Amino acid sequence: MVDAKTDRLIIGAGAIGLAIARQFALAGDQVVLIECNAGFGMETSSRNSEVIHAGIYYPAASHKARLCVKGAHKMYEYCASRGVKTSQHGKLIVATNQEQEARLDALMTAGMANDVPDLELIGKSRLHQLEPDLQAVAAIHSPFTGVVDSHNYMAALEADAENHGAIIAYQSRFIRAEKQPDGYHVVIDSQGEEMTFACQTLINAAGHGAHLVSQAVHGIDVDTIPPHYMAKGQYFNTTRKPPFQHLIYPVPSGGGLGIHLTLDSGGGARFGPDITWVDSPSYDVNPADAEKFHQSISTYWPALQREDLVPAWAGLRPKIWPDGTYFQDFTFHDASIHGCAGYIALYAMDSPGLTSSLAIAEYIADCAA
Ligand SMILES: Cc1cc2nc3c(=O)[nH]c(=O)nc-3n(C[C@H](O)[C@H](O)[C@H](O)COP(=O)(O)OP(=O)(O)OC[C@H]3O[C@@H](n4cnc5c(N)ncnc54)[C@H](O)[C@@H]3O)c2cc1C
Repeated sequence: MVDAKTDRLIIGAGAIGLAIARQFALAGDQVVLIECNAGFGMETSSRNSEVIHAGIYYPAASHKARLCVKGAHKMYEYCASRGVKTSQHGKLIVATNQEQEARLDALMTAGMANDVPDLELIGKSRLHQLEPDLQAVAAIHSPFTGVVDSHNYMAALEADAENHGAIIAYQSRFIRAEKQPDGYHVVIDSQGEEMTFACQTLINAAGHGAHLVSQAVHGIDVDTIPPHYMAKGQYFNTTRKPPFQHLIYPVPSGGGLGIHLTLDSGGGARFGPDITWVDSPSYDVNPADAEKFHQSISTYWPALQREDLVPAWAGLRPKIWPDGTYFQDFTFHDASIHGCAGYIALYAMDSPGLTSSLAIAEYIADCAA
């Protein structure tokens, strides 16, 4: 028996699920968004660097390249219209030796191919003008890069969706879905009570739970569900005031963007994320890793002492490859892949998923049209 009906049912109230719910609600659709936690953004969406990426790193024509650049423009515009704080600090990707300097050229080419605005390759003297305390031989300067207050961004998405009629049900866990001729019957556990929703379109934006959700959609070709791996990223704070005005990134390696320095809205510094492949989820930070962080950061900020570093938080990158050897794109599976009309699953939504969230929402709405 069906308890309620809706046009679109979305699973997961992270930044991406919220943006999708808002997109459909603004279009006038009936929307239900379910989230197993007590509030929005309690997983990956609140455990990241909050950087509005400019879109430099990603292969041309990839989803990441297209949706990141588009998403960054949309995010600046949206946040300005909704009073959400962004700070366009700009970023420097720094080479600290000649081997790294050679790798900047490839990044510069990739960024230009992706239409990243205002990129510039700069040498030592210009670098010294921009950041006198930075130790590096060359850098890419990306003035378009910034930082967003991700909590207030998600709060604005939630408010927009609800103001346009969306129902957001917290403490409501997806259990299973059955394919019907005109959509899905979706069983959820809502605060201990089982309910069944009928929906035309079912969107799986469950982050680290996306593969488990797909396994419980009856009718799906299970061989099409990608494997799930996790790459943990830890952060450290410092009480020391950084002498930098820009976000400082090393040249990327190994499936992450390297231990970078980002600035929060008060000008304080935070460092991370590192990258460790893990089998079980944990958000603990290992204080002993301060040594590794110090070694990495002191290559470009020699004045920082190991004792200046304080363990902060950790996040988990959802991955479909077991290591960082391959480029992992955002992975969208619709009926053409898993064989179930009206079901769209989002896998591997790691960085730059926050930046891209508004563009991803538009893309999903197009897929569902
Ligand atoms: C260390 C790190 C640094 C990053 N830095 C950046 C950055 O600087 N800039 C950037 O753009 N991106 C960054 N990202 C990526 C960005 O954080 C993610 O792409 C984005 O947050 C993913 O959002 P999401 O909504 O897909 O996932 P999530 O935020 O994980 O949301 C998924 C939701 O689904 C819910 N859920 C799961 N299963 C169920 C179920 N059965 N029933 C109901 N609900 C369920 C979960 O509780 C969760 O709330 C970073 C990621 C990490 C890990």
